[in-house]
Order: sequence, then C-alpha cells, then structure tokens
Amino acid sequence: MNKEKGLLVVLSGPAGVGKGTVCGALRNEDTSIQYSVSATTRVPRAGEVNGVNYFFKSRDEFEDMIEHDLLLEWAEYVGNYYGTPIDYVRETINNGQDIILEIEVQGALKVRERFPEGVFIFLMPPSIAELRNRIVGRGTETAEVIDKRMTIARDEIEMMKKYDYVVENDEVQLAVERIKAIVKAEHCKRERLIEKYKQLVEVE
Ligand code: 5GP
Repeated sequence: MNKEKGLLVVLSGPAGVGKGTVCGALRNEDTSIQYSVSATTRVPRAGEVNGVNYFFKSRDEFEDMIEHDLLLEWAEYVGNYYGTPIDYVRETINNGQDIILEIEVQGALKVRERFPEGVFIFLMPPSIAELRNRIVGRGTETAEVIDKRMTIARDEIEMMKKYDYVVENDEVQLAVERIKAIVKAEHCKRERLIEKYKQLVEVE
C-alpha cells in the first residue's frame, strides 16, 4: 500500500502580520508538524540562531544554492534573499510527516506552481492600522524599511484570493487553533485518502 504523504502547508501573508509568532506557537505545541528552516542573506536579529531561525548565508552562497537548484522557491524581499531548501521538504513529506513553510507571498505562489496539492493559508491582519503597529512595535526596522514593508503589505493583502484558507490573526492562540483545524480537515480530504481505502471501496 502506498504510504500516505505528509501535507505541505504554506503559511503566508503580509509583512508584520505575525506569521513568525503564529508559526512559533504552533511549533511549540504540535511537535508532529515539522518546520522548514529558510535560508536568507539578511543579518541575524538579536537572539536568532543559525540553523534554528534561518540558515544565514552570504549573497554568493545563496546564489550558489539557486544555481544548484537547491531551493524549492526563493524571493528577494527588502534587499535580501529568502528561500526554502528543497531537500528537507521532500524528505519530510515523503516520510508521511506534515511540514509548514512560513514564507512571503511571492514565494508562496511559486510553491503552488510546483506543489499544487499543498495547503495554502493566508494569515490576515485584523486591520491595516494594527499591521502598522505591529511592524513599528517590533522596533528592529528603520522608518524607511517600515514604509517599504507597509507598501508591500497592501499589495500582498490583494493576494488573499490565491489561497485556500484565510485565517485572521486577531489573537495568536486562536490563529493557531484555526490552523490546526485546517490541517486536521485536510487529512480527511477524500482525494488524499482514496489510495488508502481503495481496497475497501472496491469490495462489493
Ligand atoms: P524576516 O526578515 O522578518 O525574518 O522575514 C521577512 C519575510 O520573509 C517574511 O514575510 C517571511 O515570512 C519571509 N520569508 C522567510 N523565509 C522565507 C523563504 O524561505 N522564502 C520566502 N519566499 N520568504 C521567506
């Protein structure tokens, strides 16, 4: 019998909506979902650890990864590269485990082209004002970067229509519960189970 594949779940949404926080909370409580660690050329923020938050790379190293086709997707965002190493994603889903990718919108759309069977979740801010508060509140970015991120965020919200699910991030724990419910329901989708129950269905 074919082993059931794990789900490839993409959590995306505008900058500052709290994708990292929601993903972190999910990661803390549901150990059965694996987390994809991205590569980036951005400098580490205080407390970030190489190999845990990101694989921190030079531009040359990153371009080398692109050239050798080691990334499932990549995007340039506010002057830095971000990308998803493909091997870990493939291994995880082939082992029957679910994996979540927390990535920005351009990258998510590229994943959809390669993995149309993925589950695409758009994390929505309660309002634009709240989104700005969150970007400013993080306190790690200059005014110029904040403005750039806000402009990108407005365009990104437009992309909501390309996703399977929309989850409002009004409260982290509520958003986490909604994502867990989506993952549970996706495991019960007929298309994913047809192979598993084929013999039973074929019996008269
Ligand atoms: P930050 O610099 O705040 O950690 O991340 C900036 C943006 O890059 C966030 O929207 C984050 O979701 C996104 N990002 C993180 N990793 C990846 C990745 O591997 N690919 C893409 N396309 N975006 C990513």
